[in-house]
Amino acid sequence: MTSKAGQHGPGSGPIQISQEQVQARVQEIAAQIRSEYQGREPHLICVLNGAFMFHADLVRAVGIPLTVDFLQTSSYGDAKQSSGEVKLVKDLNFPLSGRHVILIEDIVDTGITMHYLLGYLEGRGPASLKVAALLSKPSRRRIEVPVDYLGFTIPDAFVYGYGLDRSQLDRNLPFITSQE
Ligand code: IMP
Repeated sequence: MTSKAGQHGPGSGPIQISQEQVQARVQEIAAQIRSEYQGREPHLICVLNGAFMFHADLVRAVGIPLTVDFLQTSSYGDAKQSSGEVKLVKDLNFPLSGRHVILIEDIVDTGITMHYLLGYLEGRGPASLKVAALLSKPSRRRIEVPVDYLGFTIPDAFVYGYGLDRSQLDRNLPFITSQE
């Protein structure tokens, strides 16, 4: 992996969501989850790697007893063009039977990954299953999927930062930005 000085950091593209905007939206979603899941100990599953920061901020902000788990998928295509096939590369550590599951994803693009994950999780018998996604690009959708808690709807542009990568770099930016 090469990293040349000056190539990283904010892009000059059309989508710029500041750290303050991200954090404000995370707090709003957390408040909604808190009020809807009081007394139910929700199980918040992070889809690695992209959702790690959203998940970490969300679980802290929700502020009620909850449990977490992690899974990871990979698409057979390259990072920007999904092939339409998804495989699970890291499975869950805990059973879902009887649990109130919220799947935490970074971005819903074509919907292929989310569609696959929802089918997979439903098959493991949760008491309920909802989806939180930081970002959605509805104009790119190839399969309709439900998103119960959505951070931001964005147009079709490649975004990175706040967990999302650009060639594996820039996940650590505290804001969301896009390239030209
Ligand atoms: P989908 O299966 O096409 O919905 O793609 C979902 C996955 O593609 C996300 O979880 C991301 O890992 C990746 N992805 C899609 N769009 C972007 C983007 O703009 N920036 C970074 N990753 C993206």
